[in-house]
Order: sequence, then structure tokens, then C-alpha cells
Amino acid sequence: MRKLIMGIVEFREKMLPQYAEQFSKLALAQTADALFITCSDSRVVPDLLVSTHPGDLFTMRNVGNLIPPATAEGDSTGDLSEASAIEYAVLVLEVANIVVCGHSECGAMKAVYARNPKMKAPNLDKWLCHANDATYRLEHEGPLDDRLKPHDQLSQLNVLVQLEHLMTYPMVRQQVTAGTLVLSGWWFDIATGDMYAYEPASRSFEVIDRALAERLAARLAPRGR
Ligand SMILES: [Zn+2]
Repeated sequence: MRKLIMGIVEFREKMLPQYAEQFSKLALAQTADALFITCSDSRVVPDLLVSTHPGDLFTMRNVGNLIPPATAEGDSTGDLSEASAIEYAVLVLEVANIVVCGHSECGAMKAVYARNPKMKAPNLDKWLCHANDATYRLEHEGPLDDRLKPHDQLSQLNVLVQLEHLMTYPMVRQQVTAGTLVLSGWWFDIATGDMYAYEPASRSFEVIDRALAERLAARLAPRGR
């Protein structure tokens, strides 16, 4: 905690002068064009990984980067927080992209895979049920990459399941169908620092190098609608 408190002072003294003008402009509005959904894990640092700055990313984080699915009426079957972030991003910010980003060595995925909670954490146990479809898929359909550890295999499948949960929200489905919103599944390998994107054509997560980045950029929806 001391690191955090002293970090504020360091930011004020060293960084704030460079950001002062940007923050004064951002105080009036944010222009994020992407909702970035990822895990609360401290090793996943979105702004560092995608080289973004204040105002660039609207971020929603939780344990396991989970999105409770919606009912046919569009009501969340889980926590309202996730659904609210999705509604705000899509309806108010009018983001053109939603990224669900999982990661390697995810504690949530390890817990889901072990299915044997060691702690008394009833809320966490209930929350992790939103990843159950990933477990089912791993058991019945197998991994996308069998070289990965089982909990990482589960973590990759979980990204796909959460993208499907996103599509249960009528406003998301409508915008995706209209071509004004693009959903992407990413996966971060902590050990190597590589970010991967799910490519449906190869049914695998591929490293986002320059060549893949250009292909992904070519598929983006136009900003604004
Ligand atoms: Zn995690």
C-alpha cells in the first residue's frame, strides 16, 4: 500500500505536468471507442499492454473476466454491474468494439478447473458458475490448444463463452448484426507478454504480431453510428 501512496506523489511530481492538458480536456468528455473486459488479476495491465492513454479505454474488470448472460428481455442473470458497463459503453459511449481478454495462470480459471473450493467463499463460488460452459466445452469438445496447461485451455474457452454471453444482450446483438459493433476475444500469456486474438478461421488464438494486427484492424467497424 505504501507503494500506492508514494506512487500518487510520484505521479503528481513527475507525470502530471505532461498529462495536465490532456486531463483538462478529458474532464469534459471521454471518447473511448472500445469496452475492454478483463480479469482483475494484477498482472494484466490493459493500458500497458495495448499502449493506451487516459480516455482511450472503457474498462470493466472482474474475477475471471465473466459476463453473466442476459434473459430474452435483456436483463442480467447475474450481477448488474457487468450489464451496466455494457449498456453504458454501447448506448452512451457508442463504442465500436468490445474486447474480452482472458489470461494465462488465471486464479479464477484454476478454481473453476479444480472444482474443489478450498476457501469458504460462497459469493466467489456462485460467481464462477458463469464459466461453467467453458468447463463443459473443455470436457466434451476439447481444448483449442492442447499444448497449454488445462487451466489455460479452460481460460481460452472461457473467452469464447463470455463472447457468447455478450451476444445474449439484445443491444449488443443488434449492433453486431448491423455491423456497428465488433466483438473480439483476446488472451494474454503472462510468461511471454504475448497477446493473442481468437481467429475463427483457424479456431485458435494467434499471436497479435504486426501481420495479424493489420488483418484485425481491417475488420473494424467504422467509428460512430
Ligand atoms: Zn484471472
